[in-house]
Amino acid sequence: MITVLSGGTGTPKLLQGIKEIVNQDELNIIVNTLENDYFSGVYISADIDTVLYTMSDMINDELWYGVKGDTFVTNEKLAELGTPELLRIGDIDRATKIQKTLLLQNNTLAESVKIQAEHMGIHANILPMSNEDSEITIVTDKGKLEFHDFLIKYQCRPEVTDIITSKVNPAPGVVEAIENSSMVIIGPSNPITSILPIISLNGVIDALKETYVVAVSPIIGNDSVSGPASKFMKALNIPVSSVGVASLYKDFLDNLVIDNKDENLKEEIENIIENVTVTNTIMKTLDDKKNLSELIINII
Ligand code: GDP
Repeated sequence: MITVLSGGTGTPKLLQGIKEIVNQDELNIIVNTLENDYFSGVYISADIDTVLYTMSDMINDELWYGVKGDTFVTNEKLAELGTPELLRIGDIDRATKIQKTLLLQNNTLAESVKIQAEHMGIHANILPMSNEDSEITIVTDKGKLEFHDFLIKYQCRPEVTDIITSKVNPAPGVVEAIENSSMVIIGPSNPITSILPIISLNGVIDALKETYVVAVSPIIGNDSVSGPASKFMKALNIPVSSVGVASLYKDFLDNLVIDNKDENLKEEIENIIENVTVTNTIMKTLDDKKNLSELIINII
């Protein structure tokens, strides 16, 4: 088995490649739930839904949010009625979110996602990192902000000084999935708000230490490829570079895949962790994604 730790943009890109070369039955995907919350009357687990849509070929892979070709009739009508949505939810996407909200009345999040994955014909084991609700607050020069307000209303512009997150317990099967894998892949996701929440779950670091762990750096040069990762790393005094990523994961990481542009950092990172692999990590085409996946799978 292979286990992938995922957020909602970088790692799903890699999953598009991995699913071309690894049988879905041999894949666990542990997904961040830190930012899950209720909006517009429905439960929104953006990273989980992105992984569900990625694995069922429905993802809008220009935005890495929502369903390809979706319509927005309900979203537009709500605005017309004077209740504009903070998150722009498409009609098909909303159906998935309504179903999850209904399932949650009688099931845990993990059970609800399992039911949805089955209906979508997905064979990979998609595991929310936790069944519990989390809190995340971004402390900024504009005050303490809710994560989605920071992201959407404020467009990630305020200076970030701290990130406060609540501690939750792992969902059943999360630690076991790692323990039973020959390899764990930490995709190029936001280290602070997507990967650290998974790693901080009780039992996960110990399980990672016993497994071969490969991570792909989401930082190239001194910036993230997209999103606020670099801002968040800076706020926590972590160097914004692949060196910073290596230092964050050093207790359990066996191999860090860095981009060709960062080849000059290879030696410095080899002082922190055992192995460094240098390649193209920018995933634009399906071939980019397959090549990177193949390289990772063939590391062991
Ligand atoms: P979020 O939930 O939307 O923040 O998504 P993630 O947690 O998956 O984080 C996105 C991270 O993926 C960002 O830090 C980007 O720098 C990184 N990323 C996105 N696309 C790529 C890519 O093609 N290559 C690499 N190396 N990193 C990427």
